[in-house]
Amino acid sequence: MTAQQNSAPAGQAGAAPAHGPLLAKDARHALHPWADLSTLGKQDALVITGAQGVEVVDSRGRRYIDAIGGMWCVTVGYGREELVEAMAAQARRMPYFTPFGDVANEPAIELAAQLAALAPGDLNRVHFTTGGSTAVDSAVRIAHLYHAAMGRPEKHHVLSRVDAYHGSTYLAASLSGKEADRVRFHYEDRWVHHLESPGHDPDNSPLSADDRLTGLLDGMEAAIARIGPENIACFVAEPVLASGGVLVPPPGYHRATRELCRRHDILYVSDEVVTGFGRLGHFFASQDRFGIVPDMITTAKGLTSGYQPLGAVLISDRIADALAGTADPGKPVFSNGFTYSGHPVACAAALANIELMRREDICGHVRDVGPYFIDRLRELRGSPIVHAVRGDHLMACVECRVPGESGPTPRNMALAQRVDAYCEAGGLLVRPYENLCIMSPPLVVDRAGIDRIAGIMAGALARAEADLR
Ligand code: PLP
Repeated sequence: MTAQQNSAPAGQAGAAPAHGPLLAKDARHALHPWADLSTLGKQDALVITGAQGVEVVDSRGRRYIDAIGGMWCVTVGYGREELVEAMAAQARRMPYFTPFGDVANEPAIELAAQLAALAPGDLNRVHFTTGGSTAVDSAVRIAHLYHAAMGRPEKHHVLSRVDAYHGSTYLAASLSGKEADRVRFHYEDRWVHHLESPGHDPDNSPLSADDRLTGLLDGMEAAIARIGPENIACFVAEPVLASGGVLVPPPGYHRATRELCRRHDILYVSDEVVTGFGRLGHFFASQDRFGIVPDMITTAKGLTSGYQPLGAVLISDRIADALAGTADPGKPVFSNGFTYSGHPVACAAALANIELMRREDICGHVRDVGPYFIDRLRELRGSPIVHAVRGDHLMACVECRVPGESGPTPRNMALAQRVDAYCEAGGLLVRPYENLCIMSPPLVVDRAGIDRIAGIMAGALARAEADLR
């Protein structure tokens, strides 16, 4: 998504005198996450300068409906004064003090208690981090510590999956299984293993959901046998794989993999950085949507609706008790955490966010409009350049294809880029990835907003298709 592609004004245009100098400074000094290195120094950024409700405005004064939700994270929408007020009040009262050792702050204590109350099962202990990557990283380290405390230090291998995304620290990036992201960095591949990608697309697959499930479980059992269950610490899994392409596993997958892990004493870490906080219609999808109680849950993003950076690992009492009960007497320290773990201003934002979500029953709203969103997008399958539409509640993607060609081929990826550009020109921001246009709008989007998203997307597909002729 670049401003270059923004070939037509969308919505109201306003004066934006600082646009040129801003872009020049950005091109000269910034290295953006996931930047296209071939354009470094020449990048023509889309500079977002304002936001309200489900819309954002750029430095040229153009308005867009934000179907990215910031980055899967702006859940209660932009301009929510109660979050801003809570953050400001906390910053005035006490902006920061160390969270290390036995020092605490009030919002972090209160938030930990509220997260424990929202979490399934006995996940009553909370370790705060600075975001999703550091939450995943911390969860794996806790799994290592747990098994070491139980006298099994050799249990340190980690199971992840192809197409997973777990973040951008060294360890979280190693767990991630998106081939497109694997570049000339180094990754930990000696003890991180990627199982088959678990998505199932009933519209295009020759396999029934049951056969697909059987294949996935056989593959997982075989991997466990090969690595040796005595060597495996944990399985890290997004309930629905988000940025790898909104991949929904076949029914029964979550319970069956949970059971496999239990049988082999492999801790189950549910990465709910995207699926948590309402995106699938519940505070946590693991139990309420998929019927499992994991050993740990990682959360971030929607935890604060993106108003502040914050992440957390929710840990079962069983794990926490084991850590406490078998602490090394010589070195009892839990040496994991960050300067900004449980930052009071971020925790104040999260508390206000939870209160707002409860008061407005945001999860109930998602359960109401989520199926409508998926249905409206599925209507787009009538387009000859749409291979598939898949998703769950308010996470979805449209998979593009040049007729007769499927998968992330160069022509299909170029086509998706074109659709993305036409969406942007029409006043809709979606997230391009390979041959996909990914969508995760703010959870407060209503039916009219969904109609707008589907309508602009339909127009963009029609224009891109016409270009092929
Ligand atoms: N886990 C999942 C499932 C994610 O989608 C992401 C980010 O998109 C992360 C972890 C990493 O989170 P962060 O970017 O906050 O470090």
